[in-house]
Formats: sequence, structure tokens, C-alpha cells
Amino acid sequence: MSDAVPPVVRTLPPGIDEARFARALAAFEGIVGAPNVCRGGASLEPYFDPFVPLADPHAFAPSAAILPANVEEIRAILRVANETRVPIWTVSTGRNFAYGGAAPRLAGSIVLDLQRMNRILEVDERLAWARVEPGVSYFDLHAHLREQRLRLWVDPPAAGWGSIVGNTLERGFGTTAYGDHAAAQCGMEVVLANGDVVRTGMGAIENGTAWQLYKPGYGPSFDALFAQSNYGIVTKMGLWLMPAPQAFVIGEIHFAREDDLAVIVDTLRALQLDGTIRQHAVIEGAIRRAASLAPRSRWYEGEGAMPEAAVAAMQRDLGVGRWNLHYALYGAPEVIDAQRRIVERAFAGVPDARFAARRYAEGEEPQGGADRNLAGIPAMTAFRMLDWRGGNGAHVDFSPLCPADGRDALRQYALVKARAAEYGFDYYGGFTAAGRHLHHVFAAIFARERRADAERAGDLLRALMSDAGAAGYGVYRSHLIYMDYAAAQYGYNDGALLRLAQTVKDALDPQGVLAPGKQGIWPSAWRAERGYT
Ligand code: ADP
Repeated sequence: MSDAVPPVVRTLPPGIDEARFARALAAFEGIVGAPNVCRGGASLEPYFDPFVPLADPHAFAPSAAILPANVEEIRAILRVANETRVPIWTVSTGRNFAYGGAAPRLAGSIVLDLQRMNRILEVDERLAWARVEPGVSYFDLHAHLREQRLRLWVDPPAAGWGSIVGNTLERGFGTTAYGDHAAAQCGMEVVLANGDVVRTGMGAIENGTAWQLYKPGYGPSFDALFAQSNYGIVTKMGLWLMPAPQAFVIGEIHFAREDDLAVIVDTLRALQLDGTIRQHAVIEGAIRRAASLAPRSRWYEGEGAMPEAAVAAMQRDLGVGRWNLHYALYGAPEVIDAQRRIVERAFAGVPDARFAARRYAEGEEPQGGADRNLAGIPAMTAFRMLDWRGGNGAHVDFSPLCPADGRDALRQYALVKARAAEYGFDYYGGFTAAGRHLHHVFAAIFARERRADAERAGDLLRALMSDAGAAGYGVYRSHLIYMDYAAAQYGYNDGALLRLAQTVKDALDPQGVLAPGKQGIWPSAWRAERGYT
């Protein structure tokens, strides 16, 4: 397989000819102004997936991008899309890296980039919520809270530059007590494919007072329908913010052995379910922990997965565990000091476990990206992972849901580690614990210039999804390349769930203009495009 990069050619949506496409683009320019339409060349570069796990780095190519400034422009864009049947792929800031970036599932779609709609519309300190537009990033909201001296925290995901709306709609998560982003979302404004503007829940009351306070409203509750779907364009979103705690403890426990994972998971589950630990604690594998400190080449430069002896040397040199539990406690000092003792006592029986923790006062800032995330401060240090294997780093993620049971965690870990080694990748992964379930995230890291490695990472992901499916596990999120495959794995009763999703899709978007293929949901107009891989 050659690593030569083929030249970019403009990709139009299937069945849309140059004349119709040109008509649509001219109409879009009339709506948003020519400078806000990217027709190709360098301006379109950001809309390709930089981490695409295929030999062709230009797969999932967009044909153009448009950047509207407000809801009225979006409605006008939808009128043109429905008339010309040109498909639209919405992003908020397009930083969904490792799952496709800003690129569309159906090649040739036009990316609707909402980054110009970036107002923080309202923040209520007393009731602890914010309402934002799609272009607002975690960094933006955090900076605003600081400037206004509001005693509220955001819950940042690993990379703070992404948008709140995009991350929440993808059901991303962070590590504070508000780590479940979908659960902390309350109230939306959505533009439907027919241009109708809907405010969900209490937002439908004229001059309402509780849009961001009570999710259901009256009658059916729709917010969840717009997450990981292609049913609408979200133009405003409410989210609950965490009141800044009086004090917080950030602790880390290093565990020496691979099979300690089972006892860590079982012990942590009990501590989360009884409310001692209220945040999303993270159990990081040795390599993921080490990657924030040093590059792989310090211990191993060969092909294939890092050998056990090199991993052991790395653990010794850096003082990291085979598993590393990162947790936080928030509240009054006397309460969190007692909780810390309870946590340390719970793990004290694990041989060779090493404990470290520090208490901070409100306003104090920990150092180090992961610690800062636990203190509600967005960071970009997670991107150090891109340096792990050298070159121009990239990764794709395999994200199976795991029951919070030690046996399941060990089983998933063993399965992923063995399959990754077979394809030449290190086990770079960990588990984010959320009570009854764990988000297991494994990243296949490769250098972008080595296209054969990129393709192998993609092949590995498919093998992992197949292994996981056979063992009764499913992914919670997927790269564009496997959206159909992931959806097909949720196949009970001959795919009844996907049939329902597509029935709703056809009712809301009969022309199929919004994000065809997202999450495996194909409108009838584009159903023949299913099954990229
Ligand atoms: P990030 O916040 O990481 O930059 P993106 O903007 O890339 O996230 O969004 C991730 C995904 O969420 C997109 O690919 C798209 O499918 C969906 N999405 C993002 N913003 C919206 C929106 N405003 N309305 C509908 N879907 C959206």
C-alpha cells in the first residue's frame, strides 16, 4: 500500500449535477454573503476530517461550507436545500476529532458551520444555568464566568476548544459532578428541516420563566431526540452549571497490576452509587497516563505494540500505575476530608496501591490539564496524545459502553488490548466511571503521513466493534466510517430501533436534506447510500 496522497477533486453529492449545485451555492451566497461561503481550496480544508482512518485522506469530502449568522439565515438556507435537494451537514465548531471532525457522512454534503453564532445569551448564577448559541466553546463560557466573577463551573470535555452544543448533542462527557453533558442539558431551540422554529419544554411558554429549569415541560419531551440524530438544527441550548464548591480534593491512586482493574471498578461503583464520589472518576491505563508525561520513543521505537517489558520500565521511570484512578470530591472541607478517608480506606486492601491527594480552596487552580478539568477549567493538554507515536499524530476512538462491573471491564480490556496488539497498536485507553456504567475509550494512535497505518487503525476499529458486538457490548458513539455498522449492531427485532429512527426522519425531513446517514439514519431519498464499509 502506497503512502502517496492523492490530489483533492471536488466531490458533489450523489445525483446532484454541477448546474444544480451552482444554483444552490449562488442562492446560499445571496443569503449569507460570499465571504461566508467556502467553495473549495484552503478555505474548505478545515471541513475535511484530519484524522480519517482510511488510506484516502480526503474521504468524507464536503463540497462547500456555509457560515450563517442567525436563525433567519438558517431558515432561508433550508428553503434552498429543500428546493435543490442539496444535503446539509450541521456542525457547531466542527471539532469532533476522532469521530470525523467537521466532515459529513455523505460525501459532497455542504457543511453548515454555526461558529459565527457564538453568543452567550444568558447566565443565571442563582439557579446555576446558561443559555448559549452553537459557536460558544467551553473556553468561551469559562472565560465569561471568570470575567463576570460568577461562582459557577463549566464541565469541560478533554479538549476545551470544542463547542458546548456539539459536545452535548454527541453525548460527550467530562469529569466534574456535571460530567454527563446530556443529563445537564435543559431546553433547546431547534430549526426543523421545514424551517419551523421549535422551543422545547418550558421554552414554548410565551415569556416563559423556566426554560432552563425543567426539562419536560408539558406533553412529550423532545430534547433527547435531537442528540446523535439528524432531526433538526439546534440554535440555542440551555445547560446546568455546577455551583463552585467551597473546596475540592483531587486525588490519584496508582495500582500496580493489570488485573487490579476488576477491584477498582467494583470498589468505585459502590463509592459512586452511595454518593461518596459524585463525579465521573477516570481509570487510566498506564500508557494513556504516561503519554501526558513523555513520548513513547523513550522506551520503545520498534514496530508493533509496546512490549510488556517496555511498559514495565515506563511505569517504573515515571512512577505511574498500571491503572491510575483519578477522582475528585467537592464540598465543605470537613465533608470532603472525611470522604477522602473513606475513599482511601476502600482501596487500602489492594496490594501496592499508592495514594496521593490534595485539597484546594475555591478559586485555587490545580496545574496539569487533567487536574484542571476536574476543577472545571478547560484545557488542551489531552492533545499530547498526538505526540505519543511521533509524526503528525492522529487517532480514532473505539468507545464501547461497559457495565460498571469488574468482570466486564477486565473482559473488554483484554479483548481490546489483544486485538490492538494484533494490528500493531498499543492499548491507549481508560474508563470513565459514571455509576452504573463505564465509558471505555480506546484510541488507536497513528501518524497522518503514514496512510497505511491510518487504514489499519480503521480496520482495527471494525474488528473491535465486531468483537464487542459478539460479546454483547455496543459503542456509544462512532466515527463517520462506522456509523452504519454501529447502528446495525443495535439490531433487536430485525432493526426495529433504526426503523423507528428512520420513520421519524422521513416524517420530519421528507426531502432528506439534513445530515443524511448520521448515526446510520438515512432518509428515504438517500437510503441507497447506506453501508460505506
Ligand atoms: P465540537 O463541539 O466538538 O466542535 P461539532 O461541532 O463537530 O462538535 O459537532 C459534533 C456533531 O454534532 C456534528 O458532527 C453534528 O452531527 C452534531 N451537531 C453539532 N452541532 C449541531 C447543531 N447545532 N445542530 C444539530 N446537530 C449538531
